[in-house]
Amino acid sequence: MATSNKNHSEKLVDSFNRHINYVRISVTDRCDFRCIYCMSEEMEFVPRAQLLTLEEISTIAHVFTLLGINKIRITGGEPLIRKNVITLFNKLGNLDGLEELTTTTNGSQLMKLAIPLKEAGVNRINISLDSLKPDRFKRITRTGNLDKVLNGIDKALSVGFDKIKINTVILKNRNHDEIIDLVSFAVMKNIDISFIEEMPLGLIDDHDRTEMYYSSDEIKEDIQKKFELISSTESTGGPSKYFQIHGSKTKVGFISPHSHNFCDQCNRIRLTAEGRLLLCLGQENSVDLKKIIRAHPGNNEKLKESIRNSMHIKPKGHDFNTQDKPIIFRHMNVTGG
Ligand code: SAM
Ligand code: SF4
Repeated sequence: MATSNKNHSEKLVDSFNRHINYVRISVTDRCDFRCIYCMSEEMEFVPRAQLLTLEEISTIAHVFTLLGINKIRITGGEPLIRKNVITLFNKLGNLDGLEELTTTTNGSQLMKLAIPLKEAGVNRINISLDSLKPDRFKRITRTGNLDKVLNGIDKALSVGFDKIKINTVILKNRNHDEIIDLVSFAVMKNIDISFIEEMPLGLIDDHDRTEMYYSSDEIKEDIQKKFELISSTESTGGPSKYFQIHGSKTKVGFISPHSHNFCDQCNRIRLTAEGRLLLCLGQENSVDLKKIIRAHPGNNEKLKESIRNSMHIKPKGHDFNTQDKPIIFRHMNVTGG
C-alpha cells in the first residue's frame, strides 16, 4: 500500500465544504449472525446476481483513490463470509494512494482469516462484541458463538494489527450491566473499545428501540464509577469522541448519533453491496454505481464523473431520533456499518 496521495490531485468536496476521504464498502448484506438490533430473525437478502462482483468493487475502489480517498473500510453484513473476499483485500492492499485499509467484523472467521488479512495489508480491525456471557451473547446475536469470537480476537491480537477495537452496542436491560466488564476486557487485552448508540435503521420484529435506548452519557457515567477517563484529542475525522482510560493503553470511544450530532465533520460515504453509493447513513440520497460500471465497462472517467457529481447531493445531516419509527428502511447490514 502506497503511503502518499500526492499524485492524486483531485479531491472530493461536498456542498458544505466537507472533504471526503473515507469510504465504507459493504461487500455483502448477508451474515452468519442475526443481532437483534441489526436484523430480523428471518431476513430476505439481495440475490447474489445483484451484488457487485469482487472485480467491480476493486475497480470502484481504485477510482475512489484517484479521487483522493485514502481510507477504505470493508464491512457488511459480515464481510469475512463473502466467498474469496481475501482476493479483494489483496487488491485493495496494493492500491496507490490508500493509507488505511480496515475492516469491521463480528469476529467469527478471524481464527481462519486474521493472518491473510494482515498479509493483505489490513492495518486496523474493528470487532463487534456486545456481551461476555455466552448465553446472553447467543440471545443478542441469535446465532453467534462467544468462544469462537473470543478466540478470533486472540488470533487477531497475535498477528499484530496496528490497532484492534471492540465495537459495542449497549441496550438497556439487555447488556447495560456489562459496560464495566467490557471495558475491563479491553484494558486487559490492551485494545480500544467504542460504544455505539443504536440507530433506527430498518424495522425489526420484537425489538423496541425506544425502550432499549441507553445514551452515551449514561454509559460514560457508568464507566466513571470504576475508571478515570481522560479526554483525548484523537479524532478519526468521524463521529467518535475518545477518552483514555487512566493508567492503561485503552481508549474508549463514544459514537452518539442521537445525543451528540456529528454530521458537520462528516468525511465519509458508503458503497452498498449492490453498488449504491450512499451519501449519508441516515438519508436515502444515493447514486447507482453498478449501473454506471456495467453500462461503461473499463471507463473509469464515467465512474469518476458520477462520484464527483454525487457530492452535490450529500445532505447536511441525518434525521435520527429515538421516538419515531425509522425514517430509514434499510437495515444496517444493507448500509454497511
Ligand atoms: N458484521 C460486522 C460486525 O458486526 O461488526 C460488520 C457489519 S455491522 C452492520 C457493523 C457495526 O454496526 C457493528 O458494530 C454493529 O454492532 C453495528 N450496528 C448494527 N446495527 C446497528 C444499529 N441499528 N445501530 C447502531 N449500530 C448498529
Ligand atoms: Fe451481522 Fe454485524 Fe448485523 Fe450482527 S451487526 S447481524 S454481526 S451484520
